[in-house]
Amino acid sequence: MADKYVYDFEEGNRDMKNLLGGKGANLAEMTNMGLPVPPGFTVTCAACNAFRGAGGRFPSGMVEEVAAHLERLEGGMGRRLGDAGDPLLVSVRSGAPFSMPGMMDTVLNLGLNDQSVEGLAKQTGSERFAWDSYRRLLQMYGKTVMGVDGDRFEEALEQAKEAKGVGNDVGLDQGDLRRLVEAFKAIISAESGREFPQDPREQLTGGIEAVFGSWDNRRAVDYRRKNKIDDSLGTAVNIQAMVFGNRGDDSGTGVAFTRNPANGDARPYGDYLGNAQGEDVVSGIRNTLKLEDMGEVQPGAWAELQGHLTTLEGHYRDMCDVEFTVEQGKLWLLQTRVGKRTAVAEWIMAYDMWSEGLIDLDTAMLRLDADRLEELFKKVIAEGVGVEAIASGLNASPGAAVGKAVFSADDAQAWAERGEPVILVRRETTPDDYHGMIRAQGILTSAGGTNSHAAVVARGEGIPAVCGAAQVRVDRQARRFTVDGTTVSEGEFVTIDGFTGLVYAGQLALADSPVERARAGDPVARREKIWQAYERFMARADEVRRLKVRTNADTPGQSGNAIDRGAEGIGLCRTEHMFLGEERVAAVRRMIFADSAAEEQAAYEVLLPLQRDDFVGIFQAMDGKPVTVRLLDPPLHEFLPDQVELAVAVALANQQGHAQVEVGGDEALALEEAEELLAKVNDLHEANPMLGLRGVRLGILKPGLYAMQVRAILQAAARVKAEGGDPIVEIMIPLVAGREELAQLREELEPVARQTLAEQGQELEVLWGTMIELPRAALVAGEIAEVAEFFSFGTNDLTQTAFGFSRDDIGKFLGLYEERKLVPANPFVTIDQAGVGRLMQIACQEGRQARSTLKLGICGEHGGDPDSVRFCHALGLDYVSCSPFRVPTARLAAGQAALGQTTTASK
Ligand code: ADP
Ligand code: MG
Ligand code: MG
Repeated sequence: MADKYVYDFEEGNRDMKNLLGGKGANLAEMTNMGLPVPPGFTVTCAACNAFRGAGGRFPSGMVEEVAAHLERLEGGMGRRLGDAGDPLLVSVRSGAPFSMPGMMDTVLNLGLNDQSVEGLAKQTGSERFAWDSYRRLLQMYGKTVMGVDGDRFEEALEQAKEAKGVGNDVGLDQGDLRRLVEAFKAIISAESGREFPQDPREQLTGGIEAVFGSWDNRRAVDYRRKNKIDDSLGTAVNIQAMVFGNRGDDSGTGVAFTRNPANGDARPYGDYLGNAQGEDVVSGIRNTLKLEDMGEVQPGAWAELQGHLTTLEGHYRDMCDVEFTVEQGKLWLLQTRVGKRTAVAEWIMAYDMWSEGLIDLDTAMLRLDADRLEELFKKVIAEGVGVEAIASGLNASPGAAVGKAVFSADDAQAWAERGEPVILVRRETTPDDYHGMIRAQGILTSAGGTNSHAAVVARGEGIPAVCGAAQVRVDRQARRFTVDGTTVSEGEFVTIDGFTGLVYAGQLALADSPVERARAGDPVARREKIWQAYERFMARADEVRRLKVRTNADTPGQSGNAIDRGAEGIGLCRTEHMFLGEERVAAVRRMIFADSAAEEQAAYEVLLPLQRDDFVGIFQAMDGKPVTVRLLDPPLHEFLPDQVELAVAVALANQQGHAQVEVGGDEALALEEAEELLAKVNDLHEANPMLGLRGVRLGILKPGLYAMQVRAILQAAARVKAEGGDPIVEIMIPLVAGREELAQLREELEPVARQTLAEQGQELEVLWGTMIELPRAALVAGEIAEVAEFFSFGTNDLTQTAFGFSRDDIGKFLGLYEERKLVPANPFVTIDQAGVGRLMQIACQEGRQARSTLKLGICGEHGGDPDSVRFCHALGLDYVSCSPFRVPTARLAAGQAALGQTTTASK
């Protein structure tokens, strides 16, 4: 049998989205549910793809099939398409497998021409209605099928309204509309060089071609790139008998949600507009009526609609949105789909639907998008502020933020360190801005999209951001930005709303979200439904998940924060910050410079008690929970002044005969000392520090260093234990490439640990393990596991080294790589399962083979990415570790993974 390209609505169902598109599949579903849907048929996505593949020619047989289905439709309706006396009119509607709002084309009122418009007028008894419908057809057909600039029609419409002295289109009478039809025809012929086709079948063919073609228009292509929708899907075309909301005051059109998509309220929500057609209701041409007030003008249709909304929700077991039309009091449904909603609404609806018995608890939990969970905690602009935005951009990272405008990352850092809240305003950001970005309350950029550097970093760090606010002109030199007439200079307040993408001048009041207030213990907030929902679903996630969730934290403050969010330990306690800070700089430098073991040891004696106290705080905060401490990882030059800056400062001092040299920060040195420092900095300079003297290599070259750290850790643990606490210590060696590195270090360090504990008179079991962050380590994991009690996958470095991508340099190409699908996703956000994931899998398997009790975890950024968490579950890891604010996200994703979910709900 030849391919079947056309399906009547009766022939389809909601599972046929890939063939019939979302709109067609759901129109079919509603038809078969017995809901009032105007009859019609769907030309498949496969036909569209055949058409595109053949350079814009319909596949053979399709035209005949369309004709046969049209004939059946005409038979059913008792009218013929475009008949001069009593015409059937149809809409030609695009509808892809995924919703692409506003991206593609739809033409209404097809079948009207100079004769049938008179027939329609006679049949309906309304000249005005008939001519209004005709002018709409000319407008839509001219624009979408014949390629005429839509503004030309809008201008003509405006002129007609002005000439008549009316504010909107319902003020135009039949005479005005007749004249408008002539004007539109003239526009079409002048702009396209062709006449509007009078033959209804030619109109129909043109309409189908245009919808097929719209799949490849610029807008649609860009939209798919951005939303990662496959270009090869194609769109279906729905041809449907018209019903008329523009037939007078007893007619109208509207959109309805079965529940409120903004706040989740379990009541229908939407808009209704009388005497209107199609997009009028969303286009803002006239003020609409709130849906709940529709009963005042259309009591019968409103009652019926409410019933259908309930039916649809019961059928789809989810919130649906609906497009509908009322023609002379009779209700018609024109579209439905499962509706989009905010994160808050998503949680409330899932909770309510479970409470109502519409879905079970696990189904409800699986509906939650772990990727958006963080939004529940974000600040919002306080209600009733009512200030007008000065600009709008993309809602790149959720949450509202207020701060003083600064225009460089260095300023952001400096101001923030003085305790000033700042909003970093840039055209776009680069990796060099990171230090300022993470200290800002929010980020505002004028260029760049939702996957720009600013957006990705902001989301990763949980910082609100508005990106690509194109009206904002950033003048970095003058330290200010302007929007139209408004100027905001450095130090002046701005407010951004990362939920909406809006930008406000001045300092708006923000409010903590109820979830955040409840988490902090506010009893009023704890009674709100969103908190009940949060608690219920998180409890369920905790009940079913197998993965433990730890956090990456280096301070008692971060640890406490993470525990509040449900962390079950620290998976990565970095120790580098314990080598920073004013009182430690001198000692660290002496340690680096030491010419003798004694000198080096003296430096360690200074650092040891300071670091011990750091650890005490952490063990206290994490009482009874495991803490994985990573011994020093970064190269030593990171603790010294910048090479170039120092060289310049020394050269200048020499030239100008100064005795003192500024060496960065507030520090000044005598010229001679500065020269010595520079010599050492030059000495330590590495061509490629990421692959240089760091991690375990440092531990091997400077034996006293790790020994000092181990002593500090165990003195701290012993003290906490002596005070009645329960410290659980795991010591982790970074950047190990093979068994011997770890074996030799353990031989050196274990006696140190034992001795320290003995000195303190305490007994404590210590686990020794390593990061797996080099491909070689993953491949020889079986050998490493002979000497390691745990592995923690450092997937940031593992991704860098597996791909050979430097994380600081990917900005130049990764965007294009994602766009061209050269990588499945940003591998620094979501684990690259095929490569990095494969290395992990080998390491898990061979590691566990060598040591069945081997504990396995992950501590890269990926530990807080839902898709990566699911992958870790599948790999059989024991825990994931992520930043404190990501802990709930990981708990939820781990629970969803345990119930079998393999990818994020929204993807
Ligand atoms: P979109 O995908 O952009 O929403 P649609 O195909 O849904 O485009 O068409 C837009 C609007 O046109 C619909 O919401 C509906 O109001 C109107 N419309 C489409 N087909 C018909 C029809 N057969 N009768 C009446 N109105 C229609
Ligand atoms: Mg629609
Ligand atoms: Mg690393």
